[in-house]
Amino acid sequence: MNHQNSTSGLLERLQNGGSVVVAEGYVFEFERRGYLKAGAYVPEVVLDHPELVKQMHEEFVHAGSDVVLAFTYYGHREKLRLIGKEDQLAAMNKKALALAREVARATGTLFAGNICNSTIYNRDDKESQTKVAAMFKEQVEWSVEEGVDLIIAETFQEVGEALLALEVIRTYGKGVPAVVTLCPAAKSMTYDGVPFGEACRRLEEAGAAVVGLNCNRGPDTMIPLMREIRKACKGPIACLPAVYRTSDESLTMQSLRDPCTGKCAFPTDLPSHACSRSDIERYARACREIGVNYIGLCCGSCSHYLRIVAEIYGRTPGASKYSPDMSEHYMFGDKSKFSEYSTKGLIEYANGF
Ligand SMILES: [Zn+2]
Repeated sequence: MNHQNSTSGLLERLQNGGSVVVAEGYVFEFERRGYLKAGAYVPEVVLDHPELVKQMHEEFVHAGSDVVLAFTYYGHREKLRLIGKEDQLAAMNKKALALAREVARATGTLFAGNICNSTIYNRDDKESQTKVAAMFKEQVEWSVEEGVDLIIAETFQEVGEALLALEVIRTYGKGVPAVVTLCPAAKSMTYDGVPFGEACRRLEEAGAAVVGLNCNRGPDTMIPLMREIRKACKGPIACLPAVYRTSDESLTMQSLRDPCTGKCAFPTDLPSHACSRSDIERYARACREIGVNYIGLCCGSCSHYLRIVAEIYGRTPGASKYSPDMSEHYMFGDKSKFSEYSTKGLIEYANGF
């Protein structure tokens, strides 16, 4: 594997035009595999089947992720209260952190803690903000106790909540760098009315090491916003779209409709809008051209997509050993290796005469 910077931290890796590749998308992938419930989306798999979480971390590193993200997304107090398992909060967080640390330390990758939108933040209600800050604080403190290299705070619809998360990380995070990403909806501004470029600049000025966007939009509708963010920010910027074919008609994955039934495709019918691997290649090249330094994929991702991103960003992860090579295919391959009987005749047969 190609880990020439394996002992350095997030900031060192991002210096001098460096980049960081980041696998996300654990929630949707565990739901798809039958170990997580769509709806509340709580990462119960951490306690129910920890070995599978460890395995997914390893698979993502094999595919080229430079970061192992502790699976505590929606593992916060409000979500656990919702499913009546608040008593498991500390155990779930500590176990998720221990699993991620184990894989990160074994592979020379970065070990990241994770906090996210609280779902109860209200910009007009101070009391809700106090409650949200306390939720962030306990998760940040567990992350620091377990020795994280960075904390990723993500999927905030409002810059106000993102700034609050950053403030908590800066107060209780013992100096670990923060990556803060906003979650774009259909408008080109946050839910509290700030254009994304400006919102990211505010986060950068407030001390986030990396700022940007993740989730909700697919690559094609996230890229235009990244161009604005690149212009507005001086430091490293992050892009982690959902892996669905959003468009000018349906800017977010929540607005996509099933092409056969016309019904809302989110969440369980989204596979009919899955990106192709070529879409992801185009996405990663666009990010490189814009100057996205922290690149990844969010909901709908799995390791074969991430490998493409890693390769376009110059990595040769373990999974590259098995990257497609159609020259060896008996029908579609190198014509000098295979007879015309296969490369012409059988293709015509497969296509239908
Ligand atoms: Zn997502």
